[in-house]
Amino acid sequence: MELKLPVYLDNNATTPMDPRVLEAMLPYFVEKFGNAASRNHSFGWVAEEAVDYAREQVARLINADPKEIIFTSGATEADNLAIKGVYEMYSSKGNHIITATTEHKAVLDTCKHIEKMGGQVTYLNVKEDGLIDLEELEKAITDKTILIAIMYGNNETGVIMPIREISKIARKHGVLFFTDGTQAVGKIPVDVNADGIDLMAFSGHKMYGPKGVGALYVRRKNPRVKVTSQMDGGGHERGMRSGTLNVPGIVGLGKACELCLHEMESEAARLSKMRDRLEKSLMELEETYVNGSREHRLPHVSNISFKYVEGEGLMMGFNKNIALSSGSACTSASLEPSYVLKALGLGDDLAHSSLRFGLGRFTTDEQIDFTIDAIKTTVIKLREMSPLWEMFKEGVDINAIEWAHH
Ligand SMILES: *Cc1c(COP(=O)(O)O)cnc(C)c1O
Repeated sequence: MELKLPVYLDNNATTPMDPRVLEAMLPYFVEKFGNAASRNHSFGWVAEEAVDYAREQVARLINADPKEIIFTSGATEADNLAIKGVYEMYSSKGNHIITATTEHKAVLDTCKHIEKMGGQVTYLNVKEDGLIDLEELEKAITDKTILIAIMYGNNETGVIMPIREISKIARKHGVLFFTDGTQAVGKIPVDVNADGIDLMAFSGHKMYGPKGVGALYVRRKNPRVKVTSQMDGGGHERGMRSGTLNVPGIVGLGKACELCLHEMESEAARLSKMRDRLEKSLMELEETYVNGSREHRLPHVSNISFKYVEGEGLMMGFNKNIALSSGSACTSASLEPSYVLKALGLGDDLAHSSLRFGLGRFTTDEQIDFTIDAIKTTVIKLREMSPLWEMFKEGVDINAIEWAHH
């Protein structure tokens, strides 16, 4: 295939929409514009039918019942609805939630909110490989614990948490288990029953569907789970999420789920082969480290630190040609090193020197070749200009140097 530039390797931030998804959505903007809640005419029925069909497509991907799918505006809203909704619904049982320090901000900031409302939250640390310690999890459970919120696959490292072991512990103690499945659903097999998941958030735009639409899975049997609505209104979505349904978006999410169900297996094999080739080539560079477990990891993700090189500087070296994220989260005015990488025990320097590679459905072998070449050339060039690299090559123990702090 011909090389297409720029290379997009930021699929953990968002995926391009599959043209087949767009095609499925198009009739629902102008021609079939009805409100799915309009019960008195065919415009409403057509929209409702489309939503019902999408609900089945979504449910099938995660082996759920269609009635267990609550459509939302995305994973952020689904995370909020799951955590705040359980906190309110089960307040008579307790007020304690357990989560981990490497969760997405949509979970961590929601937990902070819960603390402000008087709830208690335990933030579990992760091990060097990015996984939580299951014994620590079990020890953290008290008679006030109502929810364990641990993500499926991490957005920065791709590390997959021990979901089945976590759900077993939750079950044993009668605690609900919520997982943010945004990075895993559609990429690897996720089965809410086999995995023992009670609630799960996911999003359209991380799986080749549209932005602004997602879902919360809420278990209906063994146990029957309920969440308190966070939005008052018309009582849509079995009373758990009011608001006129985003029919075109929901149709797109449904189609995206159907495509993932059919193509996931071959796609995961194709992407992991490419990812491993990329990783193996880049690891030929000295002082290069893969962050997080390489065993328990999503097939299309690799997070690599190139010591003595700043990730941001690296990206400037090939800025216009490769789209990537670095371990410097520019959420604030200053460049903060990634809290996820720091939780794995990386120092600021290694966190700043990291790049996240997120491959996707439209990544080609030619693009991977180009990326390998561009990164290797840039890392070598930047290191040649780096005094720290020179000292390292001369055998100076850089960690032993006392730096002057300003
Ligand atoms: C992207 C992402 C979110 C937020 O999803 P939106 O649909 O953009 O709100 C939440 N959690 C994880 C793990 C993500 O990767």
